[in-house]
Amino acid sequence: MYGIIATWRMALEGITEAEEMLKKGSDAKDSIEKAIQMVEDFEFYKSVGYGGLPNEEMEVELDAAFMDGDSLSIGCVGAIKDYANPVSIARMLSEEPVNNFLVGAGAEKYAHRHGFERKNMLTERAKIHYHNRVKETTDNKELKPYSGHDTVGMVCLDQEGHMTSATSTSGLFMKHAGRVGDSPISGSGFYVDSKVGGASATGLGEDVMKGCVSYEIVRLMKEGMHPQEACDKAVRDFDQELKERRGKAGDMSLIAMNNKGEWGVTTNIEGFSFAVATEKEKPTVYLVKFDENGKQYFEVASQEWMDNYMKTRTAPLVRK
Ligand code: ASP
Repeated sequence: MYGIIATWRMALEGITEAEEMLKKGSDAKDSIEKAIQMVEDFEFYKSVGYGGLPNEEMEVELDAAFMDGDSLSIGCVGAIKDYANPVSIARMLSEEPVNNFLVGAGAEKYAHRHGFERKNMLTERAKIHYHNRVKETTDNKELKPYSGHDTVGMVCLDQEGHMTSATSTSGLFMKHAGRVGDSPISGSGFYVDSKVGGASATGLGEDVMKGCVSYEIVRLMKEGMHPQEACDKAVRDFDQELKERRGKAGDMSLIAMNNKGEWGVTTNIEGFSFAVATEKEKPTVYLVKFDENGKQYFEVASQEWMDNYMKTRTAPLVRK
């Protein structure tokens, strides 16, 4: 059995390619790295890699992680600037004996030393988004550093039973310089153990981190829960916990897959989408919906939805 699951529709092209690789016997490390790179490279996805939205100083600072579920090795970068594929730097860091998590200038030096491609990650389009947001603020509209969430996070299982998890994000639009979210934090943005399965998150990093939600899902799967049951329990319980203690809970959307290729997804927001492919299921985008009783269900994205998605992502942007 093999499979790959990822947060958001934007992962579709990447997981489609990864599925082809997995089918031919490629390992979980190469397949997930390729899948994430494809999201990082596509400039119209404005929350990951090239074209990612900048911080409040108009700089694109990226976070990424890579975890090998066999050895439990982890590599991460935080607030790295000007490198094309943070996930690949994270993967290389996961192979180091120590110094596995590097941030800012240190991460950039490491990437430079190892010959990673330097690239200005700030696109003209991202600049327009930035200027428009600044304009909205001066117009005295409410400016929140956070609106919507869009990290790509994946879990992958290859035919040999090896598992990996990886994430990549530009974090919150208009974040402070140096802010790092949950995405490169082990147990929060991602976790994987090939003996069990893996999970990954997108949402308000500051809240996801409070509950180590990815680790919690893996822990519940280890106790015997199906990935769906584990996602439901971890996300619903923690959402409730935050609301009780703090009066509100940030966005949290989690995906998981176990080492049998079974998967689960739970979110506390409207409008979450995810992409999955397994030996039994061709690459598919699902939309998460809620019925009138608030019960979550999945709907395969229609062709119309898919077309509209690409159209809005690539539509010309006007500077206000
Ligand atoms: N989790 C990310 C962060 O807090 C944001 C996101 O998922 O878009 O950095």
